[in-house]
Amino acid sequence: MSDHTGARHDGYDDWLDALEANEAFSLVCPEGHGSLPPRRVCPECGARELAEEPLPAVGELDTYTVTHVPTPAFADDAPYTTGIVDFGPVRLTGRVIDVPADEVAVGLTVEATVIESETTDERLVAFRPR
Ligand SMILES: [Zn+2]
Repeated sequence: MSDHTGARHDGYDDWLDALEANEAFSLVCPEGHGSLPPRRVCPECGARELAEEPLPAVGELDTYTVTHVPTPAFADDAPYTTGIVDFGPVRLTGRVIDVPADEVAVGLTVEATVIESETTDERLVAFRPR
């Protein structure tokens, strides 16, 4: 699928591009296990037939943590909330944005988007309320 080489992280940056274009997908094996690129085989059962299926528009916040004292790589981003969101076949980890830290709650309905770290300019998965 990827014809990019060099500095880009093979597969994952393409997936971030797709997410930015609202065309995010997950890789789903015949057993229904979901995963994200770069994957060649299902991490759950080893199946090699992975189909790209559109990611649901919204997911549900499963768990989260608030980071007040980050690693230097994210020094300028703190405090921030990191969450794990259930999108059906896959769970995504990312930054929770556009909601005050004390209003973040398990079960929150969010959509996935892409932001840039304020510290490194690296692209990150983020979730905002829907
Ligand atoms: Zn599988």
